[in-house]
Amino acid sequence: MQSQVFIGVGSNLGNRQAYYQKALDLMADLPQTTIVGCSSLYETEPIGEAKNWYVNGVVELETALSPQQLLGHLQKIELALGRKRTKKWASRTIDLDILLFDKQIVHEERLQIPHPEMHRRRFVLLPLSELAPQFVHPLLGATVAELLAGLADDKQVLRLPLSNG
Ligand code: ATP
Ligand code: CA
Ligand code: CA
Repeated sequence: MQSQVFIGVGSNLGNRQAYYQKALDLMADLPQTTIVGCSSLYETEPIGEAKNWYVNGVVELETALSPQQLLGHLQKIELALGRKRTKKWASRTIDLDILLFDKQIVHEERLQIPHPEMHRRRFVLLPLSELAPQFVHPLLGATVAELLAGLADDKQVLRLPLSNG
């Protein structure tokens, strides 16, 4: 069975758009998985102690993998692209977060779906709203468009020109 999945992609180290594109290429090569949509790219103000701005976007996949299998593959891609696991929110070449996996709710130590911060982040909801504005958050019962409209996040999120994919 195919699942509809949204991945939050971010980079704030090195050639950010090149890392972003490389991550897309590697996700396209995953077994039993197809990329079916890509948002525009955005330049976004960092959270935490990091100073470098991010390039962020959202990718839509169809996959027959389980959430846990997909997480394992995404973490391998992060490592392949030089991600160093240091402290939380440290700068990184690539960050791949599972935002939504159909309507599934996962509460495991290493995997939480929906991503627990997605509904508070403009840099997630804005690109996600390009792909799935009417997708209903399975815990909050609100659509992506509604969550975006009600957002308090005042961090800057700037659409990059001609950046699709
Ligand atoms: P944030 O989660 O606030 O965006 P982050 O992406 O910087 O922070 P990481 O250091 O990349 O956090 O990830 C920490 C751990 O989060 C990972 O090792 C992973 O096991 C776990 N995790 C839990 N839920 C998810 C999810 N939905 N997608 C990806 N990783 C997740
Ligand atoms: Ca993240
Ligand atoms: Ca992450």
